[in-house]
Amino acid sequence: MEKVRIDEVENSIQPAAVMRHLTEPLGLTDLAINYYELEPGDSYAFAYHSHEVQEEVFYVQEGTATFETADGPVAVEAGEILRFDREEFQRGWNRGDERVRALALGAPLEYGDQPKLRHCPDCDEQTDTRLERTEDGTAVVAHCRACGAETGQWYEGSMDGDVL
Ligand SMILES: [Zn+2]
Repeated sequence: MEKVRIDEVENSIQPAAVMRHLTEPLGLTDLAINYYELEPGDSYAFAYHSHEVQEEVFYVQEGTATFETADGPVAVEAGEILRFDREEFQRGWNRGDERVRALALGAPLEYGDQPKLRHCPDCDEQTDTRLERTEDGTAVVAHCRACGAETGQWYEGSMDGDVL
């Protein structure tokens, strides 16, 4: 048995004010779980992406999350839960005024191919993305795989304005 106090798990660098990886603290072997708090403008993910191997579920405990999907935007309110199949593209946001508290669960605990699409201003289209941590470890940077242009940069904790 493992019991974890979520607030005591280290925060990580994400486009969200809070994202705590619970998988390792719980010693999970077949299931990924992440805890999120999204301020208005924050996102669950670095890119519009899919997982080749893992299906994923998002439970919204507070606030309203809006997922960008192949079928257009889907709002998920407190008390609702949303499932994505393997290879379905999605990216979740907080487009509301209220903080979102949520859990993301994915299984199995492997991802396979994960295309990550972001808008590249130089290519003027959605292109696949490479994510890297800066050398000092304080930020994550996104680069377009087609031309190398930087398309985003994120820090731990709250960030000003809308997170792209
Ligand atoms: Zn580019």
